[in-house]
Amino acid sequence: MTYSRFLELFPDNDACLEYLKDKFFGDGTECPKCRKASKFHRITGRSAYSCQYCGHHVYPTAGTIFHKTTVSLQLWFFAIYLMSSTRCGISAKQLEREIGVTYKTAHRMFKQIRTLLNDEGEAPLTGDVEVDESAYGGKPHAYVTRNKLSQIYKTRKPTVLAMVERGGRVRARVVSDRGTRALHGAVTQHVLPSSMLFTDEWDAYRTLAPRYRGHRRIKHQAHVYVDGETHTNTVEGFFGLFKSGVRGVYHSISTAYLQSYLNEYTFRYNRRFSAKPMFWAMLDQVEKDRLASA
Ligand SMILES: [Zn+2]
Repeated sequence: MTYSRFLELFPDNDACLEYLKDKFFGDGTECPKCRKASKFHRITGRSAYSCQYCGHHVYPTAGTIFHKTTVSLQLWFFAIYLMSSTRCGISAKQLEREIGVTYKTAHRMFKQIRTLLNDEGEAPLTGDVEVDESAYGGKPHAYVTRNKLSQIYKTRKPTVLAMVERGGRVRARVVSDRGTRALHGAVTQHVLPSSMLFTDEWDAYRTLAPRYRGHRRIKHQAHVYVDGETHTNTVEGFFGLFKSGVRGVYHSISTAYLQSYLNEYTFRYNRRFSAKPMFWAMLDQVEKDRLASA
């Protein structure tokens, strides 16, 4: 998706509105009022369309992140285009510069667009799944004692838990700590019991094992990193990419935004083999909030 292609498809606000209209109220969509399969026609001068039978008005932006904002629809689409057009994303600061709005506005748009990129509602992971956790800002060295380790974790760098299907999808969550309760909760929520788990030898994973089809542990403390199929290279690779991605775009990110950055990052990662350009994948995520939609 090039910039000139973007301009060709979305030359103005009307084109963007028409796109949303086709997405939510395409020909044959049931009218919310008269319940007939209708066509909706643009009402001149308004961002609304009316039912061909009963004249009921529908608003394509209602219930979306675009509704009732002072920013034009085309700028929103352009912001999505910019956020989709680099491998690791861009910062709100870059967005401010590129689209010429205040930082406050750019930051709000950035956050809103990010909310689209979540993986809620997607199927849990399955198959061979590598699981690992990392203190954001680095994992302690393997040689520290158990006591020392728990001290380090008490000083609380946020912990990120990543679960990766070999050759497939990833889920990543900020968890409260690397204790049994937090790790078990997240893994059982996101990984099906029929999966084979691959982890390091951290105790919380050992007690998790009975809930899964199988469990292979890599003995990092004995400096064994790959033992046939038993390794956690995929998930470690994900962490490596994530951390260098963060460094490329930001100097660091605050804990408050860590999960939303993970969401954006995993959204990209999970579509790395997809033929659909990222711009369309992101735009596809625009949904109507069922409660707010009129
Ligand atoms: Zn109608």
